[in-house]
Amino acid sequence: MTFYHLGLLGYPLGHSYSPLLHQAGLNSMHLAGKYELFSIPPSTEENLPLRHLLARLRSGELDGLNITIPYKTTILPYIDELTPVAKASGAVNAILVRDGRLVGANFDCQAFLDDLKLQLKQAGRCDLGIMGGRRAAVLGAGGAARAVIAGLLAEGWEIKVAARRVGQACELVEAFSSPHLVPSSLDGLENLRRDGIDLLVNATPLGMHPEICGCAWPGSLPLPPHVFVYDLVYNPRETALLGRARQAGLAAVNGLGMLARQAAMSQEAWTGKLPDWQEMYDALVSERVDIRRG
Ligand code: NAP
Repeated sequence: MTFYHLGLLGYPLGHSYSPLLHQAGLNSMHLAGKYELFSIPPSTEENLPLRHLLARLRSGELDGLNITIPYKTTILPYIDELTPVAKASGAVNAILVRDGRLVGANFDCQAFLDDLKLQLKQAGRCDLGIMGGRRAAVLGAGGAARAVIAGLLAEGWEIKVAARRVGQACELVEAFSSPHLVPSSLDGLENLRRDGIDLLVNATPLGMHPEICGCAWPGSLPLPPHVFVYDLVYNPRETALLGRARQAGLAAVNGLGMLARQAAMSQEAWTGKLPDWQEMYDALVSERVDIRRG
């Protein structure tokens, strides 16, 4: 019986639910395997631990890797080829090996879109499921923001991307080169609020364990009326941003659904079998995850 050696590259990884999630996926397919955490600090010099890990993948010792913060874009120079979605996003969240070549894929994009559609439906916001005329603000301009933006652009959204480093937002906008995507500074959020937004996506780690008081939307600024809030952060489940949204009577969700879906898509790419993402999601939800546990 094949035994799958899978894992996650990132730093730090103390908050990761991925081993639990992937074990549930493997179990749902009756496959044997283990999912390890490879916590490797980023380094501007030759990153030998990273190179060694990728060599293990290329040699077949590992069957697949997920990529998370802070490697989603910085891993690109180490990859032999990209799937079309990873290319469009300029970010990778999974690596597969095909004929000894490392292939960078991005399942965050489809996972986000699939989950967003379900969440909008469940919140009775099907008006936002219709193409055209919908306005989104994405906070953060890193790897996850790129995946979210690639997906939203493909679905016809008008997007403003706001980052603390405006240069990073401008670089992202330039890379997508779309008339439907414009950069903003965090200072510009007030204007953005005044103009109206239908969807607010937090794609920064603000609010993530252990700094759970962080909130990507400024504390002094009320949230836009009627906005649907999607926080990619999932630990804690109720982030400061989600708490504010609920207090303001707004529909708001965390990133657990997206997390489960991208994990299921990764496993399908590595094993050729599709796990039950709902079982993976349920494993996360039924686990009494304590934010102090990390
Ligand atoms: P990343 O590539 O490092 O990008 C993070 C972005 O947030 C960058 O624009 C960064 O700006 C900004 N940022 C970081 N700290 C900030 C702060 N204190 N104030 C304002 N902006 C800040 O990370 P990522 O991979 O995109 O991940 C972002 C978050 O999304 C993480 O919490 C991750 O866990 C979550 N995520 C969830 C899912 C899911 O399935 N639910 C999937 C992917 C990611 P600087 O470059 O200036 O630091």
